[in-house]
Amino acid sequence: MSDPFELLGNRTRLEIIRALIQANSSPLSFRALFERTSCPDSGNFNYHLQQLRGSFVQKTDGYELTLAGKRVGGAILANSFAPEQTVAPIDLDWHCLLCDGPKQASYRDGMAHIRCVDCDGGATFPFPAGTIEQFEREALGRAFARWLRVLIQRVTMGFCPVCAGRVTAQLKRLPGGTPADPKPSRVQFDCQRCVSGLYLTGASVVTYHPLVEQFFFAHGLELHAAHAERAWATLDRFNSTIISEAPPTIRFEFEYDGDRIEPVLHANGDVRFE
Ligand SMILES: [Zn+2]
Ligand SMILES: [Zn+2]
Repeated sequence: MSDPFELLGNRTRLEIIRALIQANSSPLSFRALFERTSCPDSGNFNYHLQQLRGSFVQKTDGYELTLAGKRVGGAILANSFAPEQTVAPIDLDWHCLLCDGPKQASYRDGMAHIRCVDCDGGATFPFPAGTIEQFEREALGRAFARWLRVLIQRVTMGFCPVCAGRVTAQLKRLPGGTPADPKPSRVQFDCQRCVSGLYLTGASVVTYHPLVEQFFFAHGLELHAAHAERAWATLDRFNSTIISEAPPTIRFEFEYDGDRIEPVLHANGDVRFE
């Protein structure tokens, strides 16, 4: 396949991809597609269209996007970035596990923030700018939480959220700090291709393991309506114990209504039950 960056480095080609994604999977004739671009010359337009064929565009009854073309078009829609796009803080309905301060959700510079007003503890993660306007303000806290789960699932299954390349995981920090400045454990995920990185707390990594999710759901502790911290705050016991410094290994304890589950987080990010 030709270099995709070179293939897309042209206004007419990007306009072709935009026109085809807006056509909602209905193939467009040569003429209909030409008229949806700003290119004044059909010969020149045809040249660019042919360059895209075989990679991002295919011809069936008319012209339509290949799966790769849909992904590129979808990425452009999701990330159509307006730098001024911000969401003022939205009050959330639980309190910080670290300091009991109020929690708020907000959005700026392409990043969703679910943070404590008093100690700033919480989560910051990328959320697609083009998706913000699809939600009412009151629904955004929930949308951020669901998107975060998608990100966590994707990296813990070993795929980069940006480029779908392979990701390695490493437990980089054990829980510690001081009561005044607690430092949760941290797992670092690094893409082997695009060098994107993301870190998550160990508690987030273990919570979204299927068996732990099942534990929460079996007890009616909703994980998809808000950040997992809201469910953690409801538990009878939520604790982590360092069981080895080298290699770093942590056991978590989640207890609710007489039932408990103890996932163990290993140095390579694996979650096991032992
Ligand atoms: Zn706090
Ligand atoms: Zn990547």
